[in-house]
Amino acid sequence: MCYAIPGKVVSVDNKTVTVDYFGELRKAHIIDTMVQPREYVYAQGGIVVGKISENEALPILETWKDHFFELKKIDAGLSILDKVSFPILKKVETLTKNEMLTLLAVEDKSELDSFYHTANKIRKERLDNACCVHGILEFSNYCSNNCLYCGINCSNKSIERYRMSEKEILDAVDYAVQLGFKALVLQSGEDLYYTDGMLVNIVKKIRKKHGILLFMSIGERSKDSYKKLYEAGAYGALLRFETGNSKLYTHLRPGKKLEDRLQLICELNNIGFVIATGFLIGLPNQTKKDIINDILLTKSLQPDMYSFGPLIPHPATPLTSVPKPTLDDILKVIALTRIVDPEAKILVTTALETLSFDAKEKGLMAGGNSLMINITPQKFKKSYDLYPGKVIDEPLEETVKKTVGLLHSLGRAPTDLGV
Ligand code: SF4
Repeated sequence: MCYAIPGKVVSVDNKTVTVDYFGELRKAHIIDTMVQPREYVYAQGGIVVGKISENEALPILETWKDHFFELKKIDAGLSILDKVSFPILKKVETLTKNEMLTLLAVEDKSELDSFYHTANKIRKERLDNACCVHGILEFSNYCSNNCLYCGINCSNKSIERYRMSEKEILDAVDYAVQLGFKALVLQSGEDLYYTDGMLVNIVKKIRKKHGILLFMSIGERSKDSYKKLYEAGAYGALLRFETGNSKLYTHLRPGKKLEDRLQLICELNNIGFVIATGFLIGLPNQTKKDIINDILLTKSLQPDMYSFGPLIPHPATPLTSVPKPTLDDILKVIALTRIVDPEAKILVTTALETLSFDAKEKGLMAGGNSLMINITPQKFKKSYDLYPGKVIDEPLEETVKKTVGLLHSLGRAPTDLGV
């Protein structure tokens, strides 16, 4: 569990610390930040990412104290489940694949409500009200691949390509940290313009200055490249496998093999990365069975965070005429995942917002407990054209304000934001 509010170290046992947050004890691992009992730390993704002096920590904790318990009360009120009207939901611990298929096929409004409420109640019982909010910085929209579903694939000649300089990246990170972000994702297409050395340099500079959890989302690179990035201080990796159906995978990602992708994810896990992974929903010829298999495959990869993207067809790709999934198609996957893996962090992706104005709220009330905010500077944002309908003209401060407001209204503590 991540808290971007400081916690007090209660004990240190080899590489594991126990941290106290208003009486709640959480464990976190030490990688590069040496700590002693009674010191104050920030922990993200189960890793201690920075220390803070007692003088700085106490005023922050003072402002959080009452609020912390108030939010829990709101969440508890919204998570009450009076009765479960759908029989399968009375035995969620032992669902068979056929029962999972039945859940994905639910259309009746009251059964759907019951399904989502059950998932939300499980989230509350297992993980309480913490909600991770990660910032994502799209630093290059060049990509050497030609994925059929992706608006920045190398065949799309209609977009303006950009690469952010080291200084532009560092400035954007500084600004996000100033707004309170404690976990950031550096994302690009597969762009070898950025050598391992350049990325390692950027990671080192960020980590030297900021106590944050840094994820890399840069596609397929060698195990050695990722190892260098981990050693430089990027302890997270976001790498989706997109679909676990190998025939569909090869069709959608020409020249690529599913087993290579899965192998890389396993290798990243072995290096020690905090992994975020998942798949796309709404692909042509994707069946409900594929989706169940993809949820189970994601679980088997032992991710820290599940990330499901809806396929939003892009007009400049061969999938332009594929119908978009509905919001319920995605909410059902979030809810089912919560049931299948009750302690997971489940991301409500930015792409989901293109399906409905209240998608974030609905995702959080169907079992989701993580959000991503786009922190890419305005002048580049519109060119990172993965899918149409992205929110591109809202200033970052405004997005952060709205997100915190939404989380507070739902009783969720934005624990990856130091606000
Ligand atoms: S999905 Fe990723 S790897 Fe494929 S074209 Fe888009 S950015 Fe490149």
